[in-house]
Amino acid sequence: MNQKYLFVINSGSSSVKFRLFGLSSDIPLLAQGTVNEIGGESRFSAKTISRETQELPLCPLKTHEDAIDHILAWLAHNDFALEDIKAAAHRIVHGGSRFSTPEYLDEETLEYLHSITHLAPLHQPHNLISVDILEDKVPDILQYGCFDTAFHANHDPLFTHFALPLEMAEEGVLRYGFHGLSYDWIASQLEKDHPKLAKGKVVIAHLGNGASLCALKEGKSIDSTMGMTALDGLPMGTRTGAIDAGAIMYIMDHMGYDLKQMETLLYKESGLKGLSGISNDIKVLCESDDENAKFAVEYFAFKTAQYIAAMAVSIGGMDALVFTAGIGENATSVREMILKHLEFMPNFEHHVIPTNEERRIAEKIWEYYAKDILGSANSLHKVAAF
Ligand code: ADP
Repeated sequence: MNQKYLFVINSGSSSVKFRLFGLSSDIPLLAQGTVNEIGGESRFSAKTISRETQELPLCPLKTHEDAIDHILAWLAHNDFALEDIKAAAHRIVHGGSRFSTPEYLDEETLEYLHSITHLAPLHQPHNLISVDILEDKVPDILQYGCFDTAFHANHDPLFTHFALPLEMAEEGVLRYGFHGLSYDWIASQLEKDHPKLAKGKVVIAHLGNGASLCALKEGKSIDSTMGMTALDGLPMGTRTGAIDAGAIMYIMDHMGYDLKQMETLLYKESGLKGLSGISNDIKVLCESDDENAKFAVEYFAFKTAQYIAAMAVSIGGMDALVFTAGIGENATSVREMILKHLEFMPNFEHHVIPTNEERRIAEKIWEYYAKDILGSANSLHKVAAF
């Protein structure tokens, strides 16, 4: 029987990243790529693992549907038959209070996930739209969701509660934490390559456009800097990170911002971009002589160090600090600035471990649903053969 595929998809507001894996126990990576700047000057880059890659001419990709169409056409062009894509696994940012494991995306599950989009307005709608698109494009595909909140699902109330009246927590007003797929991957890499550390106290710094920290003890997430939404904690590319709630009320009450304007300010115009007035891209800021660019980078490094110390309190110490994601993996000078602020802390190791959320998603789906997917692929195959 020919190879069947698992399509892992990570849809952002203007990008779609994908990886195609083989459906067998070693879950081989077969192809990967990204569409960037959907709706603008779209760019597509992709490659197959085993043979020379053929490109398709790129026309402007106006919507996520155009982007997914282009990816599927590229796959077909490179001899990955669409009917052999038996399952899709989506990175979904918010699983709310319901989901702590990967889920089959039936109608009821999707309805719940849509109902909490306001908790992740920058991500959730784009994550979910790809589910509908693939349902239309790939016959009989089984679709699953893996949640960024899931890795943090067992946090103690000390770490999940805001200091609000307790009934608010019963309404789901809680700190959930995000970037869980990245942290889950790093935890698995620690177990493989640093087994002694994996049993200890580790703070992971996922520093990308979105940025957060996770305090890990014996491989389990104990605390994270992100809260009910992905706005809390560290300053980010365009997001504020933690901010005095009184400042928000002041801006709305005295400066006339409505809710939509506030959302745009906090999610899209703040962080490195807001502080520098130049860019959300830390590489650009590190290379700039502009005083505000320098301030933005210093601010980011300083706040990150402060929160690393806070995470160490949550787990009673820190044996190691692990950097990951775009800034964590590549921006050496930013890592050095952060480490400098932490020189007062007792000895700890520091490591850089590349994140791989898409492989972690594939591993999870294999662990939970391999039987269902292969069973369904075989029965469809039999029907087709008759
Ligand atoms: P996202 O959250 O969008 O997945 P990434 O993890 O790709 O973000 O991280 C994007 C950030 O990483 C940007 O600020 C970018 O400048 C930074 N970055 C990527 N490569 C480098 C590099 N070589 N040097 C410095 N910063 C880098």
